Amino acid sequence: MKQFFLPESGGAFKANLHCHSTVSDGRLTVEEIKAQYMKHGYSIVAFTDHDVLLSHADLNEPGRFLALNGYEMEVNEQGFTGLKSGDLTFGSGKTAHMCLVALEPDNLTQVCYNKDKYIWGNAKAFIPELKFDRDDYERVYSHEGVSEMMRLGREHGFFVTYNHPTWSMESWPDYSGYENMHAVEIWNTGCERIGYDEYNCHCFDDLLRQGKRVYALATDDNHNGQPLESPLDDSCGGWVVIRCEKLEYRCVTDALLRGSFYASTGPEIHDLWAEDGVLHVTTSPAHRINFITGARHTGSVGAHRSETVCEGAFRMDPARDGYVRVEVIDQYGERAVSNPVWMDQLK
Ligand SMILES: [Zn+2]
Ligand SMILES: [Zn+2]
Repeated sequence: MKQFFLPESGGAFKANLHCHSTVSDGRLTVEEIKAQYMKHGYSIVAFTDHDVLLSHADLNEPGRFLALNGYEMEVNEQGFTGLKSGDLTFGSGKTAHMCLVALEPDNLTQVCYNKDKYIWGNAKAFIPELKFDRDDYERVYSHEGVSEMMRLGREHGFFVTYNHPTWSMESWPDYSGYENMHAVEIWNTGCERIGYDEYNCHCFDDLLRQGKRVYALATDDNHNGQPLESPLDDSCGGWVVIRCEKLEYRCVTDALLRGSFYASTGPEIHDLWAEDGVLHVTTSPAHRINFITGARHTGSVGAHRSETVCEGAFRMDPARDGYVRVEVIDQYGERAVSNPVWMDQLK
């Protein structure tokens, strides 16, 4: 019997889960962002302004558009410099950023808040509206400090994502000690557009091979510093396709928690299922489909340059694989990345 890892029925909703508006340091208003993303086929945007959690329910249109409420938090290594100029390519030192997306629409209480720190752009103007459990939280840049921020986010009803490790100048010695994240950004358009190699699947596999149960997100982290028509515009470059029954807040956030989505900068994953020990995938026309596992055991289906493939199959080895995930690469080098299928999920 087929075991599906993306549901057979329901909708497929394109989403940007990391986004900055004029509420903090973005250039576009939330209304302008909604219009831009709807024009490009999105039905979900999570507004994740820096340290400002507000309800954006007034943007919702039943069946057409859903705003998720969230915010981004950071904690910086001692000696971290830069950013004050507003130029994200400037500065040195490590930092850890995470997005928190509220699982319930009425969860608007921020955690890890400090009234004197982490104010970006216009954020100060919104302080009187904010709700927080305390306003003097001291963030610490360490394995324990970051893991504690992620734990508090998770415990208080947020979906927690570890953001842009490359731009943050973090590598294995840093993120291997971070616990409690739900997902990691395997792609961040904003960082890529200013020159970083923010394709982070090496980090994703590092975390998975440690035994962490994390999902993959592609996000924009758009600040829209460039005009929308510029090739350096940071909107609509990376997204997730969320598969769930309805475009309703809790339905969508439940799908996030289940991992019922895939990340992409171009190709589509249509179906992903296991049957008789074989993982099957069907996709949009691709140059190559790779199967990557937790072990030194991989598979690949490829096409000559002028041809394409649209499906692949891989015999799993439950005794050693740990997990299997799928990557789809199109003729432009754009990628779709599935969430892992863990061997203990197999029926
Ligand atoms: Zn960030
Ligand atoms: Zn951001």
